[in-house]
Amino acid sequence: MKIGVLALQGAFIEHISVLQSLGVESVEVRLPGELKDLDGLIIPGGESTTITRLVDLFQLREPLFTLASDSFPIFGTCAGMIVLAGEAVNGSVNSMGVLDIKVKRNAFGRQVDSFQVDLEVPVLGKEPFPAVFIRAPYIEKMGRDVQLLARLKDGPVVAARQGKILVTSFHPELTRDNRFHRYFLDIVKGKG
Ligand code: GLN
Repeated sequence: MKIGVLALQGAFIEHISVLQSLGVESVEVRLPGELKDLDGLIIPGGESTTITRLVDLFQLREPLFTLASDSFPIFGTCAGMIVLAGEAVNGSVNSMGVLDIKVKRNAFGRQVDSFQVDLEVPVLGKEPFPAVFIRAPYIEKMGRDVQLLARLKDGPVVAARQGKILVTSFHPELTRDNRFHRYFLDIVKGKG
């Protein structure tokens, strides 16, 4: 199995470390040719305006869209979720529109822009997941084909899945808990 990690900007090294610790081969993706022979792709957190601009500059938009439309497994975290969204509000991001969700960027305001919570994620088991939020978005609206995986106690949806595309508002690569990565790898293996 080989997983690509979009390495244009943001927290891609952290995702590669998690994959390494799980014994999974990974490759940094910056060019369209590097999308070949992959079994899945991670789009990391960072700054979605920058990532989408670089996606266009490196001519990755069309091949990524084609892969996503063809049941290719993709895991988007934080800015990665915004990049994949159908619509992103709060600042102008030209998101890719592969996922039927509307996200609100920087949704938790400036006062509380970073925090950690123990999040109930039923698909990961009983143990709550330590979710690290950094200037995070949340999902404001989602289509019928989107499965809700987790929401905060006061309501906002922060993890979801549509087919083989998985998204989280938070950064699972910044904690020691690798269950979200393992869940994604199960999707890649066709077991999830
Ligand atoms: N605020 C960033 C954005 O809008 C996302 C932050 C993150 O990925 N941690 O793109």
